[in-house]
Order: sequence, then C-alpha cells, then structure tokens
Amino acid sequence: MEDIVIAKMNYAKLDDSASPVRIRLNSTAIRAVHLGDPASAKEVEVTYVRGGSAHKARGTQCVLACYNMIIPYLCPEMSETQKEALAYAVKIPLVYTNVQIRNWKPFQKLGVNNVYCPGGYFSSFSLDFPVSIGEYKFPSSPEESCLLHLVRTPCQPGLPCKDQYRAGRADLLATTFETFERNIRDQLTRILGGTDFDPAQDIQAITVNRWPHGYAYEYNPLFEPLDRPDSERPCVIGRKPFGRIKIANSDADGHAYTNIAIDQAHRAVAEISHLSLQI
Ligand SMILES: Cc1cc2nc3c(=O)[nH]c(=O)nc-3n(C[C@H](O)[C@H](O)[C@H](O)COP(=O)(O)OP(=O)(O)OC[C@H]3O[C@@H](n4cnc5c(N)ncnc54)[C@H](O)[C@@H]3O)c2cc1C
Repeated sequence: MEDIVIAKMNYAKLDDSASPVRIRLNSTAIRAVHLGDPASAKEVEVTYVRGGSAHKARGTQCVLACYNMIIPYLCPEMSETQKEALAYAVKIPLVYTNVQIRNWKPFQKLGVNNVYCPGGYFSSFSLDFPVSIGEYKFPSSPEESCLLHLVRTPCQPGLPCKDQYRAGRADLLATTFETFERNIRDQLTRILGGTDFDPAQDIQAITVNRWPHGYAYEYNPLFEPLDRPDSERPCVIGRKPFGRIKIANSDADGHAYTNIAIDQAHRAVAEISHLSLQI
C-alpha cells in the first residue's frame, strides 16, 4: 500500500502480450454467445467494441463480471427466467465530489469535520479522512490546503425506489459541471457562514465523480419481502451458470461492497474449476 499511494499507473502494462493475464480497457462487450448448443459447446465468443470497431475473442470459458442487468442483452440465447432475474436489479447512482480548499481554518473555527444537509443538493460534506500512508501525508495543520468529500445521491422522492435510481441516472446525464460547481459554492458558503471562508479565493479545485451505475441494488424491505428464501432471490436465480458462461459482479449477491464482488468472482471462477465452495 505504501508504494502505490502516489505511484503513477502505467496502464499499458495491463494489456501486455507477455503476461498470462491481460486486461483490455475501453472495450465494451456487446455479445457473448456459445459457438454451438450452450449445453455442449466447447467455446464462447465475445464481441466487443473498441475505438469504434467490433472485435471478437474466443475462450473455453467466460465470466461476465459486468452489471448483471445488461447480461440479457449480451446473451440473447439465455432462458427468459434467467434474463428476467438478471434484469431485476437497478444500479444505484452516486456522486462523490472532491473540493480542494486553501486551508481548513473555517472548519476548525466552527469545530466541525462532518456536516449533514438533509434535502440539500449535496447531502453531506466532510473533511477528508486523515490518513498518512507512505509518502502521502494528510494535512495535519488547519493552515494547510485540504480536500473535502461531498456526497450527492441523485433521486426523485415520491417514486418507487428503482424508479428513483433511474431518475437519478437521467439527472446525472443531464447535469452540467456548472450546476455542480454553483451548488458547491452556494452550499459551502452557507455552511461556513460566519467564518473567513471566501469561495472565490478559497476553492482551489473541484473534481466531480459521477457514478451512474454506482452501488449494486440491495433488496429493500420497504418494497420487497424480507423472508424470501435464498433460492428465490433474483440475484441467485440470475447468477446460475449458463453453459460456459459464468456470472460475477456484486449484483450477483445483491450487496454493494468490494468484499461481495471478490466473493462473487471467486464463486464464478470456482464454478469453472468445479470446486465446491460455500460462500
Ligand atoms: C463512489 C463509490 C464508493 C464506494 N465505496 C466503497 C467502500 O468504501 N467500500 C466498499 O466495500 N465498497 C465501496 N463501493 C462499492 C464497490 O466499489 C463495489 O462493490 C465494487 O467495485 C463492485 O465490484 P464489481 O467487480 O462487482 O463491479 P464494478 O467495480 O462496477 O466493475 C464492473 C466493470 O464492468 C465494466 N463493464 C460494464 N459493462 C461492460 C461491458 N458491456 N463490457 C465491458 N465492461 C463492462 C464496468 O466498466 C466496470 O469496470 C463504492 C462504490 C462507489 C461507486
């Protein structure tokens, strides 16, 4: 961890022909089909688009670790039951924004490091978590420049939850950077009112990270049965192996965390190697 915090990533290394594992970026898979009957085929062919043109890759096995709800479009030969289960989840949109401020004296003066704004454009503002790793040192003095972490969960109150996520995604697509910037300046100025904070002078940089397909869909007891047996959960029906195609991604367990993504990748690979594995 110490080494990678400030290291520059060499992306070319990801797709090195000398490496046994290669990752090709900017390549969108648009189809994954068995060459022959899925029950007996020996290969899967994946078509992907890169730089405006379509390419094909073949393998004896294929793991789809992408958003589960697009798999029905990638695998038209799948059963309708499995397609329906995969299409059930709707990814949750999220915006994490970083704002670099000249110093954090206004926060010191107010005695706060975390501000919640129910109903606000951004629902929370916090001083970056104070971590020092390797060469990276957090700004320990209030005189130092520092990052703020702002959270926005775009949605449309009043709609069923999945429709709120869809509306939030449309909102993210349509919102300009200027709108984010104006709201940052406005909300921060109001939060830090009564201090010397001057948005024109003290905001040094803004990065808006939009995650239209942010969190995996988690079953919501407000809208869905709590006591559904595991075998009836759409994610369990959807992630069943389909011939030589296996299904990973955190969607495959209906929980939005990295450990889940790793568990589901492990399960999908274990299905290839026919290991019996309990997760
Ligand atoms: C802002 C944010 C903060 C988070 N913070 C935390 C945290 O603190 N702790 C934690 O445990 N989890 C956190 N999570 C959740 C965590 O990032 C996810 O659970 C995890 O990344 C899921 O991994 P995954 O492999 O299932 O899917 P992803 O990481 O979403 O990977 C799926 C990949 O598939 C690619 N893809 C999709 N469609 C195609 C296609 N057709 N062809 C090719 N590629 C395709 C996508 O581009 C993407 O790279 C956070 C998520 C977000 C968005």
